[in-house]
Amino acid sequence: MVGSALVRKLEMSAGHCIITRSRQELDLTRQEEVEAFFAHECIDRVYLAAARVGGIKANQEMPADFLRENLQIQTNVIHAAHTAGVGRLLFLGSSCIYPRLAEQPMAEEALMSGPLEPTNEAYAVAKIAGIKMCESYRRQHGSDFRSVMPSNLYGPNDNFDLDTSHVLPALLRKFHTAATTGGQTVTVWGSGRPRREFLHVDDMASASRHIMDLSPAQYWSVAKPHCSHINVGSGTDVSIVELARLISAITGFKGQITFDSSMPDGTARKLLDISRLKALGWQPETSLEEGIAQTYAWMVEHWNQVGETA
Ligand code: GDP
Repeated sequence: MVGSALVRKLEMSAGHCIITRSRQELDLTRQEEVEAFFAHECIDRVYLAAARVGGIKANQEMPADFLRENLQIQTNVIHAAHTAGVGRLLFLGSSCIYPRLAEQPMAEEALMSGPLEPTNEAYAVAKIAGIKMCESYRRQHGSDFRSVMPSNLYGPNDNFDLDTSHVLPALLRKFHTAATTGGQTVTVWGSGRPRREFLHVDDMASASRHIMDLSPAQYWSVAKPHCSHINVGSGTDVSIVELARLISAITGFKGQITFDSSMPDGTARKLLDISRLKALGWQPETSLEEGIAQTYAWMVEHWNQVGETA
C-alpha cells in the first residue's frame, strides 16, 4: 500500500528514475539477494516502506514473524544501502513504537519512556531497532538516514483480509458486505472505546517525499541525534465506535452495530504530536470522510481481488 502510493507520488515529478522490486522479484529477508540488488543498481535515495504489517489479531498471533521479518528486512536494506554508498534513506516506522501509556498527543521524545503495548510489542521493538539503526549509522558513518513514524494508514491497495488487516479496511469490508447482502448486524471487535488517528496513504507518501527532500540542515535542525524520527499524522483521532458509525453511513448500512468484547482493545489511545512535522513545513490534506469515501470506492472497484482474501 505505502510503496505504491510512494510510486504514484514520485511519478508526479520528472528528473528521477524510480527503481522498485516486487516481493516475488526480491526477497528482502535474504541478505545476499539484497546486497546483490544494491551492488547492481545505482541508487541515490531509498524509501524503506517494506515491512511485515498487520492488525491487532495478526500481531498477537504471530509476534515471532513480525519481529524476525522486520528486523531482517530493515537490517538488510539499511546495511546494504550504507555499503553501496546510498546518499539518503527514509525508514518508515509506526506510532506503536510509543509506550502504552504515553502522554497524548505523543511527542517523539516519548520513545522508550515506558512499557510498550503487549498486543504489538514485537513489531514495535523491530521498528524501534530500525530508528536506532538509522541513528547509529549516522553517528558511526555520517549516513543521512532518516525516520518517519506514521499513525494508522489506510487507502488503495490496503489489506482487506479480516484476520490480518487493520481496523479501517476490516470495517469497510464488513459494512459493505452487510449493506449489500441484507445483513442485519456488523460486529466490531473490542469495546469501541479505543481512539486511533488515521492518515490517508497519499498524505503519507507526500509527507515522506517532503521529508526526504529536505536538506540535511533543514532535517537535522528539527531531528535530534538521539531522537531523530519525525511523527506523521493527521493531528486528530476518533474512537472506534465513531469510525464504525462513519463507515456505516458511507456504505449505506442500516442495521445494528454490536461489539465483541472477547477481542482485544489494544492501546487506549494513539494520537501523534505532529509539531515537528509542521515545523518542517508539511500539513495533511485529506479529511477522514473524503479518505474513507475514496478508499471505499477503490475497494468496490477492486472487489474481485479484495474478496479473494477471506
Ligand atoms: P492497533 O491500532 O495496533 O490496535 O490495530 P488495529 O487497527 O487492528 O485495531 C485498532 C482497534 O480497532 C482495536 O481496538 C481493535 O480491537 C478495533 N477493531 C474493531 N473492529 C476491528 C476489526 O474488525 N479488525 C481490526 N483489526 N480491529 C478492529
